[in-house]
Amino acid sequence: DAKSLGKNTFVAFKREMTVATQRRVAMERDLRKAIDRGELDVYYQPQFDCATGVLVGAEALVRWLHPEKGFIAPADFIPVAEECGLISHIGLWVLGRACRDATRWPGRDTAPLTVAVNVSARQLRDPAFIDRVSEVLQSSGLPPAQLELELTESLLMEDVDTAVAFMHAIRGLGIKLSIDDFGTGYSSLAYLQTFPINKLKIDQSFVRQLPSERFEIANAIISLAHGFGLRVIAEGVESPEQLAWLQHAGCDVVQGYLFARPMDRVALQSLMTPVQSAA
Ligand code: C2E
Ligand code: MG
Ligand code: MG
Ligand code: MG
Repeated sequence: DAKSLGKNTFVAFKREMTVATQRRVAMERDLRKAIDRGELDVYYQPQFDCATGVLVGAEALVRWLHPEKGFIAPADFIPVAEECGLISHIGLWVLGRACRDATRWPGRDTAPLTVAVNVSARQLRDPAFIDRVSEVLQSSGLPPAQLELELTESLLMEDVDTAVAFMHAIRGLGIKLSIDDFGTGYSSLAYLQTFPINKLKIDQSFVRQLPSERFEIANAIISLAHGFGLRVIAEGVESPEQLAWLQHAGCDVVQGYLFARPMDRVALQSLMTPVQSAA
């Protein structure tokens, strides 16, 4: 009858909850050891000037190679790290690695290459975060103008006052700011005027359907950015047609599988310093 059916459903539900919870607890435990065991790595995805194709920088993306489970995608462990608070520790580690790696990138005198690092909500809420960032810059020796922090729209809208204060402090250090996954959140356009940012990053969901669909949104973001005196970057560029459309629309920077997948720092270095020809 209905009553026993409901009961069985509840039992099954509880069992599933337990499995999910156990998995989460196990992941949290493993994640706590991941840094010490050297299982985390930072990969870099190059970013190019949209018009000229010149390399302008790279985005740092964390990677986790678990000893038993193999590769775990950031989408699977970043949310767990955010929930249990480990993201502050991991995020700081990524930042340190990225800044140290970037000091070894060539061409710093002519056109300095920037390194973009993702920041999560939890980090932003930590009052000590600004000091930590400042310390990382000092100890790595990376010029602040070569660092860019990527914040998501939803993160900024959680607590606008705190976010704005944070952004001013970051800009005060000479660091650049960009809004990641732009167009997917709920930020009011009015806030763009008060946010001290340098760049908007068009979310890949809008880029994916170019040039036949969704071009109105990409177009709108590009004019919006330029109207506010901001630079605009498209992420997730996979086809020559998408690139052609973005070039025509006046997009400033591009990043995506069409040009390069995220790679380790050694691969990035060799991309930056091509082997000289024998001639
Ligand atoms: P995101 O910051 O929006 O990064 C872009 C994601 O798109 C990356 O996935 C990248 O590998 C992927 N991607 C780049 N080009 C293409 C393309 O042409 N096609 C497709 N389909 N995908 C492309 P990834 O590395 O798996 O990272 C996923 C998300 O995890 C990131 O999204 C970011 O939100 C988060 N994340 C990664 N590293 C960190 C970190 O160090 N700290 C924090 N807080 N979050 C991070
Ligand atoms: Mg990003
Ligand atoms: Mg993004
Ligand atoms: Mg994204």
